Amino acid sequence: MTSPAEKPIGFLDLARQQDEIGPNLRARIDAVMTHCRFVMGPEVSELEERLAAYAGAAACVGVSSGTDAIQIVLMAEGIGAGDAVFLPAFTYTATAEVPLVLGATPVFVDVDPHTFQIDPASLRARIADVRAQGRLRPRAIIGVDLFGQPAPWPELRAIAAEQDMYLMADCAQSFGASLSGRKLGREAAATTLSFFPSKPLGAYGDAGAILTDDPERAELYRSLRSHGEGKTRYEVLRTGMNARLDTLQAAVLLAKMECFDADLRRRREIASAYDAGIAQRVVPPARVPDSESAWAIYSVLTRDAQDRAALQEQMKARNVASAVYYPLPLHLQPAYQPHHDGVSLPVAEDLSRRILALPLHPQLTDHDVGRVVAAICGAAGG
Ligand SMILES: *Cc1c(COP(=O)(O)O)cnc(C)c1O
Repeated sequence: MTSPAEKPIGFLDLARQQDEIGPNLRARIDAVMTHCRFVMGPEVSELEERLAAYAGAAACVGVSSGTDAIQIVLMAEGIGAGDAVFLPAFTYTATAEVPLVLGATPVFVDVDPHTFQIDPASLRARIADVRAQGRLRPRAIIGVDLFGQPAPWPELRAIAAEQDMYLMADCAQSFGASLSGRKLGREAAATTLSFFPSKPLGAYGDAGAILTDDPERAELYRSLRSHGEGKTRYEVLRTGMNARLDTLQAAVLLAKMECFDADLRRRREIASAYDAGIAQRVVPPARVPDSESAWAIYSVLTRDAQDRAALQEQMKARNVASAVYYPLPLHLQPAYQPHHDGVSLPVAEDLSRRILALPLHPQLTDHDVGRVVAAICGAAGG
């Protein structure tokens, strides 16, 4: 069994990361404290340029969160009442919340049982359902790169083109991932990012961004994030939001960009070690072909709900955290069920009972990784 001296293994170790990036981080924060431009200071545009260059996108607009990023993108397309917005039933709540806030209706789509990504066949069927019901106009698709792996972008683009719908990418979990050798960020007309502290590139508070190759949309997003303002601050062109990216958060993110690629490499190393170590006890996550994940979350499949509960207990006894993303698919959530047409989405429902996430972050040592594997396989020591 674990010796009492073994410290808990959790999902994040931000204190340890601070030690690693300390001097650069302090210098960045001090610079903001000196110039005192806390809103729209120079770090915001510096970060926007860095992020755009990193993803190979023409423009980046820093905003207050990943959720606000989605809202701004959908507002820019005029999405609202009477519009159906298609999105996976198995994702974080923010993706479904925004269409409702704008008066549109989220339509939930089932996912692939192996990669957990949106299932193109289910998407086609759900669009056909909505057309047959005749109440809503199929208007937009939100592709989500769940857990850090890419959604099936070529198929999503084909469906959007054929159905004449708007396609956007919720890249909140996948910044830094790539598909066919190309970094994510240009798979759809707009890509939204989240820098919530637990994401692979995390700020010290809420922050987000939007990537696009369309300069006119970028200008519209800039206006929408700041009260719909025009060329001057007191010219109001449209109804907007207060959704700017904090200068201090931009400074933190600039410091973290320095180690982001090394962090991604470490995440991939740990994912490979888990794959090899745990396959005898649980099903490791299937890889999306021709891609590299950002490994925001590493989720395995257990046999059933009972097996998952037993495994969580076993891990807890060895001081190893685990988590369930997501315990309830969105179409069954109390807030969203009234907007759902009652169609069952069996894969999302099944995954919610069997899925289990393991700790995976760059500060885990090889010893920690061994302890996680041992906690899962029930082996002594570790
Ligand atoms: C985290 C997350 C968001 C929301 O990002 P916030 O910055 O927390 O608003 C949206 N979509 C997905 C898939 C996420 O994981």
